[in-house]
Amino acid sequence: MEKQESLSDKEGVKRQKDPACAVCTVSLRACTSKEGQGPIFCPTENKREIIERANREYQRPEIKRFAKMASIQEGECYAHRHIKPYVSHPVKPRVQEICEFAKKMDFKRLGIAFCIGLIKEARILSDILTEQNFEVVSVVCKVGRTPKETLDIREEEKILIGEFEAMCSPIAQAMVLNEAKTDFNIVVGLCVGHDSLFFRYSEAPVTVLVAKDRVLGHNPAAALYTSSSYYARLMRPGIDPPQS
Ligand code: SF4
Repeated sequence: MEKQESLSDKEGVKRQKDPACAVCTVSLRACTSKEGQGPIFCPTENKREIIERANREYQRPEIKRFAKMASIQEGECYAHRHIKPYVSHPVKPRVQEICEFAKKMDFKRLGIAFCIGLIKEARILSDILTEQNFEVVSVVCKVGRTPKETLDIREEEKILIGEFEAMCSPIAQAMVLNEAKTDFNIVVGLCVGHDSLFFRYSEAPVTVLVAKDRVLGHNPAAALYTSSSYYARLMRPGIDPPQS
């Protein structure tokens, strides 16, 4: 097992309490191999009671079916699984994955909660889902034309300073889709935080098709991929670029 030798005692104690899988450097991991091991912060080794509690949840019939279909769908997103040695060969874009999972779950009515900045993408998605024989209900973020002043937003905190500006209303989006009794809701480009409220208020389970990134063409991972070059500033305190 590779120990996290570089940790100070204080960090080590803290990490013992807080799982930190994201910084695990073990080569044969406890979470993926019976022979594997975990570092001191390993939740596979330290959180047995929680793991068992989670596993009991999967025995609830509706949860088991949901998790089982998601797992089957995951497997079906790769080709050549029977060929050894296995080489990852993904074959399905996420939109296809969503359609196939929804069919497996017998979902008939799909909701789209989208950002007005992605209305073209939302329309294309609506067309695709309709072609795939789903009933589609879609709601834009600005639904209701509720003024930002409702949230005590000051004029200088708006985008369009000095003009009327409707707030994004993810709660209204969720409530409209709840009333429409959608089986499954799909998020298209909701803002950070607005998406969180939508997740909280949606009665139907939610998946994300598009994670908004205004700069990176809705590919937020690009900033991670370039964090040792063009986005190195993200690794330093104070991540705002200098004002020109
Ligand atoms: S569960 Fe344990 S072994 Fe797996 S990534 Fe997390 S710390 Fe590493």
